Amino acid sequence: MSTQFAYTPIDEIPRIHADLRKSFRAGTLKSIEARRTQILQLAYLLQDNYDRFKTTFAQDLGRPSLEVAFLELNSTIGDCKIAYDRVAKWARTESAPFNVNFAAFRPVIRKEPKGVVLSISPFNYPVWLALGPMIGAIAAGNCFVLKPSELSPATSGLIAELIPKYMDPGVVRVVFGSVPETTKLLELPWDHILYTGNGRVARIVCAAAAKTLSPVSLELGGKSPVVIDPRCDLKTAAKRIMWGKCVNAGQTCVAPDYILVQEDAQDMVIQALKEAHDEFYPNGAAASPDFSHIINQMHFNRVRGLLEKTSGTAVFGGQTDEARLFVAPTVVKGVKGDDSLMSEELFGPVLPVVPVKDVDEAIEFINERDHPLALYVFSQDSSFKNKVFDNTQSGTAVANDTLIHCATDGLPFGGIGASGSGHHGRKFTFDMFTHLRASLDSPSWIDIILGSRFPPYNASLLL
Ligand code: NAD
Repeated sequence: MSTQFAYTPIDEIPRIHADLRKSFRAGTLKSIEARRTQILQLAYLLQDNYDRFKTTFAQDLGRPSLEVAFLELNSTIGDCKIAYDRVAKWARTESAPFNVNFAAFRPVIRKEPKGVVLSISPFNYPVWLALGPMIGAIAAGNCFVLKPSELSPATSGLIAELIPKYMDPGVVRVVFGSVPETTKLLELPWDHILYTGNGRVARIVCAAAAKTLSPVSLELGGKSPVVIDPRCDLKTAAKRIMWGKCVNAGQTCVAPDYILVQEDAQDMVIQALKEAHDEFYPNGAAASPDFSHIINQMHFNRVRGLLEKTSGTAVFGGQTDEARLFVAPTVVKGVKGDDSLMSEELFGPVLPVVPVKDVDEAIEFINERDHPLALYVFSQDSSFKNKVFDNTQSGTAVANDTLIHCATDGLPFGGIGASGSGHHGRKFTFDMFTHLRASLDSPSWIDIILGSRFPPYNASLLL
């Protein structure tokens, strides 16, 4: 059953914005209990419609049910539970650290909502990246507008259908649509905009936000490298790299984008990757129910085009099927820095292997490019890991695994430079949408000590 949901009429958008502003001013989410009720409703929305979401994911991305459960639905329900349990603690007013010079002012930091916030989300994790920010924004007491991706129409449409049934329309609204609807949204002043997606659109968002002085956080992508120490546990490494690349057919912002390894270890690494691939998909990925397809024709053409232009050698994979938007997991050997496969984030199941002389050359290769969203190192040697981490910059630095850091409770998720700015994930999403309002209460008697601050000044008091 395909879910069709109509785009939001453009002339309704300013009214949605005005309604939420009115609701925010009326204090709809002032109390922690009101926030918890909405967070709980969001968890019910997912729980009650679990199977419908599995169907929409299959329609949009051919996504296997287990991946949908593990990486989208359960993790988002888990984030609801964390926020529900911890929101009172997160929102508690904090005393400033004790300082005898200022203690009399009773300085505190009030955790206040920013107001009415907007989140524009991408197609690749259409539940987790659409509803995760909503949880943190509501926990912080904001009213929230979601613009989910039109490229995953079944899942985004289902979200647009269900939000009004489960959530208070004075708290959350969905604007469903594509560029014209987003352009209209961006003409309005927001108390915060979170944009998750590619760098080209991020520039459009920032330019529009500059006109209304709306603060922006950017969760972007880029090419996340993997540096392999040839002495590492290669069998485990290959499995984890291949998994990170094949989940959602490589359409993950932190998917390992390319491998850097010493030239004389290249074949050994490729052999291990091939074994991992064959273990995952014994009859090939095309025949497997556990492998997704590329989101649409445009992205399929883009990935296929990059593969056609490479001067490296596809050592396995390389098959494509346009009718099914299928690209096989493909490992390409002997890729150089100026290759087509190194020209942009691949966002598909293609894994170039770039041979380097040694770890120093790998570090130089990374530092010559934009700071990646994730940097992976596979090594059991701490000096190897530290050398790579200490001499590079990236959103996250992960040793001996891939992707898993996004779900790790307590860790911020975000990029640096071209891979983004700002952090999200549970408490960090709450912080993103929270205004730290400095506050103090000065007693009258303090002027016995500080009375000399008032004119006429007495210069003799200067030391
Ligand atoms: P997308 O095409 O779904 O676009 C993202 C959003 O931008 C959508 O809501 C879309 O409607 C909107 N948009 C598109 N064109 C626009 C325009 N001209 N003006 C205003 N809004 C517009 O997804 P995408 O951008 O292709 O997503 C993939 C990218 O996102 C990759 O680079 C990936 O690495 C990155 N990503 C980052 C994170 C993160 O948390 N850092 C997570 C997921 C994806």
